[in-house]
Amino acid sequence: MKKRILTGDRPTGKLHLGHFVGSIANRVKLQNTYEEYVLIADVQALTTNFDHPEKLAGDLREIAMDNLACGLDPQVATICVQSKMPEISELTTYFSMFTTVSSLRRNPTIKSEIEQLGMKDNIMYGFLGYPISQAADITIFKAHLVPVGEDQMPIIEATREIVRRFNRLYKKVLIEPEGLVGKIGRLVGTDGQAKMSKSLGNVIYLSDSEKAVEQKVSQMFTDPQKIRLSDKGHPDRCPVYLYYLAFYADKAEAHQIKKDCLSGKRGCVECKKDLGAVLNKFLNPLREKRRKFEKKLSLVDDILISGTKKARTITKQTIEEVREAMKINYFK
Ligand code: ATP
Ligand code: MG
Repeated sequence: MKKRILTGDRPTGKLHLGHFVGSIANRVKLQNTYEEYVLIADVQALTTNFDHPEKLAGDLREIAMDNLACGLDPQVATICVQSKMPEISELTTYFSMFTTVSSLRRNPTIKSEIEQLGMKDNIMYGFLGYPISQAADITIFKAHLVPVGEDQMPIIEATREIVRRFNRLYKKVLIEPEGLVGKIGRLVGTDGQAKMSKSLGNVIYLSDSEKAVEQKVSQMFTDPQKIRLSDKGHPDRCPVYLYYLAFYADKAEAHQIKKDCLSGKRGCVECKKDLGAVLNKFLNPLREKRRKFEKKLSLVDDILISGTKKARTITKQTIEEVREAMKINYFK
């Protein structure tokens, strides 16, 4: 029996390079080794989109296409939709009975998102509770491994605590998962901010055109202390160089770029031009795969419908075990 992976994305817009290095690369790499489920977390997307729920239908398909374009094989991995598996909401409710509000408020992921989104005292009950819903996503699939970006690790830790508590209170039916952070746990934004993020507007989307990529790269921030070509640069602080490290397959060449930047032989304009080409070379096969689905959106829907049907056999089975463990399966 293969071990399981559960991971996913919120359908809040298209996926970007940060999502790729943080989580998607690992999902694609491990899809044959593990039994893999990729959840499109539409209920969780509502925590910040409750006032625009009509956006979800489009974003859901974009996210599915992004994953497929990256090489997720629907014959191997299962892509499924959260709201179509109500057992997840049921498990969320049970977990919420023994999870304290103070532990949620203390969660570093929640804390930094509250700050980033400027929520202050306007925190919705559903938003504060989303680590519980994420714990339900992971544990209902009895996943062993969860490929995520670095920012999500506190949520995995919260999940492990919930599992320990559940298993101690009732019966040992849930599995304590491990997080797996990608090669680059947190990709910086094109503006040099700590995280590439849709809400910060500093992203390169996996579905951007060649022109858009070239243009975004040409406007990228570089080492602020390198003004003239001949100035000695600090590549380790330069977003352009950090992208080279993430996407340049030929490491020897990346090493040479670093040497030339350090010694003032290479200018930022040249670096950006080359990076644009590197990223487009990486993105071209993704664009090609995406086109097939864009031409026939019903293919995407078919994948989501059959994936959700398959995944639901598991969510139904686990919820039965949970009810039994809690002794609330009154009528058999
Ligand atoms: P954004 O912040 O751009 O709105 P998001 O964080 O809302 O994106 P999620 O759907 O919450 O996107 O995250 C999906 C996965 O991608 C998570 O595992 C998250 O850690 C990872 N991820 C998101 N942004 C980055 C990044 N800049 N670098 C590495 N991983 C990332
Ligand atoms: Mg997020």
